[in-house]
Amino acid sequence: MECIVEKNTRSCNCSYSGCEKKGKCCLCITYHRKKNQLPACFFHDDYERTYDRSLDNFLKMVDEIGMRND
Ligand code: SF4
Repeated sequence: MECIVEKNTRSCNCSYSGCEKKGKCCLCITYHRKKNQLPACFFHDDYERTYDRSLDNFLKMVDEIGMRND
């Protein structure tokens, strides 16, 4: 299977520019899952920019404004 890191990077909303996992979704998900977190793409931009990727913050966001669906 071909790696589509460039395509992934173009659609990634993560604002943490120094991360070497940006666009490498398999590494990104594994990293955050180990910490009981979700990756940036689950969060609306204003929640993503807090860098709080916790499930609590995700559920708070869903309760306040709903899931990100773009
Ligand atoms: S969500 Fe986390 S692992 Fe993924 S690119 Fe952003 S900072 Fe890196």
